[in-house]
Amino acid sequence: MIVVKYYDGVCEANMSTADKCDVSVCANCGKEGCNLKSCMACKLVKYCSRECQIAHRSQHKKECRRRAAELHDEELFKQPPPLYEDCPICFLKMPADHSGRQYFLCCGKFICSGCTYAPVYDNQGNKVDSQKCPFCRTAFPKTTEEIVKRTMKRVEGGDVRAMYNQGNYYKDGIMGFPQDYAKALELFHRAAELGCAEAYNSIGYAYSNGQGVEQDTKKAEHYYELAAIRGDISARHTLGHIEGNAGNLKRALKHFRIAVQSGENESLERIKWLPIHKWACNKRRVHKSITYISSIFERY
Ligand SMILES: [Zn+2]
Ligand SMILES: [Zn+2]
Ligand SMILES: [Zn+2]
Ligand SMILES: [Zn+2]
Repeated sequence: MIVVKYYDGVCEANMSTADKCDVSVCANCGKEGCNLKSCMACKLVKYCSRECQIAHRSQHKKECRRRAAELHDEELFKQPPPLYEDCPICFLKMPADHSGRQYFLCCGKFICSGCTYAPVYDNQGNKVDSQKCPFCRTAFPKTTEEIVKRTMKRVEGGDVRAMYNQGNYYKDGIMGFPQDYAKALELFHRAAELGCAEAYNSIGYAYSNGQGVEQDTKKAEHYYELAAIRGDISARHTLGHIEGNAGNLKRALKHFRIAVQSGENESLERIKWLPIHKWACNKRRVHKSITYISSIFERY
């Protein structure tokens, strides 16, 4: 079969090679040509060779950084896609709050809490506590061992959520797993590479708290951003706090607004306090510690 290509309505056969390609000019030496390589960071200029790019660096650096930062912000402040698909039973939007959904190890599905707790009736109309997955009807695991066994099986099958959950078991040292930050991070990285936004958030948290890695606020922020771009609301909220505390109120507002649009309430509260964000943040911390201390006293 002969494939005839058309460029702007002109048949390929009637065009010279120069017409067919995107002719551009090297920003350093001025040489014209096809397929010049763009500067990866800013995509503003093109070069004929690596040498030309290096030679042009000092002139280009300032503009390149400005445009690269612009491109980064464009991506960062875009409203992200919802983190979860609609509930597979009722087809309603999955609630943003984690108490509004549940993960099922049997079929690897997230199901909204409404469908999870909806009463199930038998043929006679009697309410029964089915103890089965509302989607695939597999009986709930009864022991911790069974949960772990099902998790491991799903991890082997490449289930991203199961990987993330196992990472959390290692992080917290629960479900019979020893506390091991290195193993937790390994699982978080694996899950993150497969597209788990929450795993990126957990890596960010590990860097900001020095869990299994050296504390590094820059790296933490980088991972929070990766999580937020992929729709993690908690990371988005954290970024709002980071920008607010740094005095960048406009950027903080942008983050909080995106979080609110994704369905998070706490960020709405934060927007109210934005003009005095740092003060409100500290006051909240003081308030939190007072509540904590008084709760300890109440126990005795
Ligand atoms: Zn050149
Ligand atoms: Zn550049
Ligand atoms: Zn549902
Ligand atoms: Zn199921």
